[in-house]
Amino acid sequence: MTEVTVDAVEAVGVRAPVDEPFGYSQAWVRERTATLVRVEASDGTVGWGECWGPVEGTVETVESVLAPHVVGENPLDVERLYDRLYDVGRATYQTIVPLPAISGVDVALWDLAGKLQGVSTATLLGGRRRESVRPYVTGHYFKPVDGIERQYDRIVAEARANADELGAVKLKVGLELLGYGPEEDVELVRRVREAVGPETTVMVDANYAYDRRDARRVGRELESLDVEWFEEPVRPEDVEGYAHLRETLDVPVAGGECHAPFEFDRLFEAHAVDVAQPDVCIVGGLTPARRIARRARDRGVPLVPHVWGTAVCLGASLQLIATLDGRPWLEFDRSSNPLRSALAVEPFAAEDGRVSIPDAPGLGVELDAEALARYRA
Ligand code: CA
Repeated sequence: MTEVTVDAVEAVGVRAPVDEPFGYSQAWVRERTATLVRVEASDGTVGWGECWGPVEGTVETVESVLAPHVVGENPLDVERLYDRLYDVGRATYQTIVPLPAISGVDVALWDLAGKLQGVSTATLLGGRRRESVRPYVTGHYFKPVDGIERQYDRIVAEARANADELGAVKLKVGLELLGYGPEEDVELVRRVREAVGPETTVMVDANYAYDRRDARRVGRELESLDVEWFEEPVRPEDVEGYAHLRETLDVPVAGGECHAPFEFDRLFEAHAVDVAQPDVCIVGGLTPARRIARRARDRGVPLVPHVWGTAVCLGASLQLIATLDGRPWLEFDRSSNPLRSALAVEPFAAEDGRVSIPDAPGLGVELDAEALARYRA
């Protein structure tokens, strides 16, 4: 058999407005964007990947900086190519490595490798341990309404509906964005807990809204509200703060969506997280995410990938989740994002409280060409 090589790498920016602006501790979200990466092999097989973040800059980084180091290479050499892209990124930018852009290329290569060998990417990543996963619902963002009572009412109603259907919900805190503070944050969690009852799993996500002191105060309150984990309580750089909170609080501490691969080493060495949350489309792709998963496993730290992207990112995350041991969760984003449902021929959905993990070759995600053209940035 003649060796198949990578013929072309193309970056496709996609953009969609949200139904209604929504907020979390750091910002308001008015549109959703991603950059999809299309890798075509010399036999015509195509793999897709996804990069987190703005279209601007990402498309150019993929096509001008990264693609020349992948074209002409054997697409089955994914690990070697990831290491090369990482080194190229380091040499090009010195103080940063463009990990979100590398993610799209790496994920596309894993999709392609699976398709070329006729197996699901999870099989190549180490083996499928499950065919479905329990989801928890991400949503319950801040609404563009006046007054804290209306704010509470809308978030509580949304959480109750999701809890009724899937039994696990993640809330956002950090209402300082709207001029409130930690007391209102705790009150929001209290009201949601009361509304969803004791059987619902409730996670709380601060998106690093707090300094150490406020994080400790809020964390103490969360202990009595049966919170599954307290996510990103302090700034990602503050690994010592994470470790201190983990030592001090009874509520488990989670984080990782803003951390690079080498920073997970620091998080693990400092015993800074109870739950590790790398994002496949941010951290550099499935290659580093799998390496992080193995380190997490060795240390007895559960891995729950952060997922907030389109159907491609969701599909890639599911392939990683298929390989994890223990009882993983799927972060199931239900905030407004047409790119999550419209781009896939068969959008991911929960059935009987589970989300199925495709076992078709590669990621098992088929994209709708017409929708892709419609949302192209
Ligand atoms: Ca988060």
